[in-house]
Amino acid sequence: MSTISTSAVLHRSLKCEFPRITGGEGNYVILEDGRRILDASGGAAVACIGHGNTRVHDAILTQLKQISYCSTIFYTTEVCERLCQELVDSTNGVMKRAYIVNSGSEAMEAAMKLARQYYLEKVPAEPSRMRFISREHSYHGITLGSLSMGGHVTRRAKFEPMLLECVSRVSRCFPFRDKPAHESDSDYVARLADELDKEFLRVGPETVCAFVAEPIVGAALGCVPFVDGYLTAMKAVCEKHGALFILDEVMCGMGRSGTYHAWQQDDNAAPDIQTLGKCLGGGYQPIAGVLASKRVIEAFENGTGSFIHGHTYQGHPVTCAAALEVQKIIREENLVQNVARMGELLSTKLKALLGNHPHVGNIRGKGLFWGIEFVKDKTTNEPFQSSMGVAFGIAELGLTKPYCIAVYPSSGTADGINGDHVIVSPPYNISPAGVETIATTLQKLVTEYFATRD
Ligand code: PLP
Repeated sequence: MSTISTSAVLHRSLKCEFPRITGGEGNYVILEDGRRILDASGGAAVACIGHGNTRVHDAILTQLKQISYCSTIFYTTEVCERLCQELVDSTNGVMKRAYIVNSGSEAMEAAMKLARQYYLEKVPAEPSRMRFISREHSYHGITLGSLSMGGHVTRRAKFEPMLLECVSRVSRCFPFRDKPAHESDSDYVARLADELDKEFLRVGPETVCAFVAEPIVGAALGCVPFVDGYLTAMKAVCEKHGALFILDEVMCGMGRSGTYHAWQQDDNAAPDIQTLGKCLGGGYQPIAGVLASKRVIEAFENGTGSFIHGHTYQGHPVTCAAALEVQKIIREENLVQNVARMGELLSTKLKALLGNHPHVGNIRGKGLFWGIEFVKDKTTNEPFQSSMGVAFGIAELGLTKPYCIAVYPSSGTADGINGDHVIVSPPYNISPAGVETIATTLQKLVTEYFATRD
């Protein structure tokens, strides 16, 4: 991976050559040289029903032949309507309408504007509300608005001067690094809720549209789930100050956590607005979405009735057809239940095979969404220096070994803050044998990586 690429692609790095993929089958991707890679992460937790599903291929082709594109300025399509209904149903009717876009970043941008416009539509209007409170070390997307919302230090660094000033941040919910052993989970949650309350008071509650959080932090921290009661407590603070509660489930939503939505695992934590992404279309088409609750929708219905936002390709019929078929497969094959069952097995196996490794500091997750955090010193949990590139090193080694495994690396956002982690997020239809293979292969990889470095 060291020669300079001569291709025309402006790839993630112009200083290395990337293996070229030529195919995919179930839980494997196939490279040009014939190697089969065990896809333990589905890219960035995307390929939730694996690769090469012919039902989805057929649905895409059928839709493409019917109508390849239509503008949502003038028209609607049955396939988009069906998909939105499927999404509303997955919340048991808690959310009222869905808005379909093409990426998680676009979904976050739309969520921000929906929240702002909500305060202009409701009666009485509250035009002073234009701020957001999010969390340190969160990730909400890469466009300027969504990047402004997130607290991903390295992804923000070069663009800081261009980012929005209407966002402030409170602490993350990350017991492994931030909760002292003597503090109970409920005291920790109360401390974080108190911090949010104080932040509302500091910026002026009447200026805040919403608090925004990922229930399970993905890219920035390597799969850190909320502590029980946390989402409910943070929502209560929002309600106290009349603000909306927005959850970003782009990475952890649509079944990945073992329930359709991660918030369904915390009592009374239903959001006012929610974003979705990766496991909506399972990678078969670029698609993401925003769900809005009754409170938000009624303000629009009783107000102007018009959300001032839109993209050329929103609600694209072919992407909707792909996502609708993926969601039907998940529902018909009871795959969310399989995620919960296989997730428990994955947790047990990862902890048994990797938990005692001298450089594995923490294994955490929910459903089929797990993070393994590597530390320099297991007694102090001191992270490696980010310049060592441990997480990316492990992921790259995995692609070169004869047993070939792909995991998603996420590395420290700044020295001494977050450390290195890899994410394991296999497809929802994985079998117990598949879980076993992933855990044992990963153990081999981690052992080999550190054996050559210690
Ligand atoms: N929100 C979360 C929680 C994410 O994990 C991501 C992407 O990883 C995004 C938003 C942005 O999604 P996209 O990369 O599709 O723009």
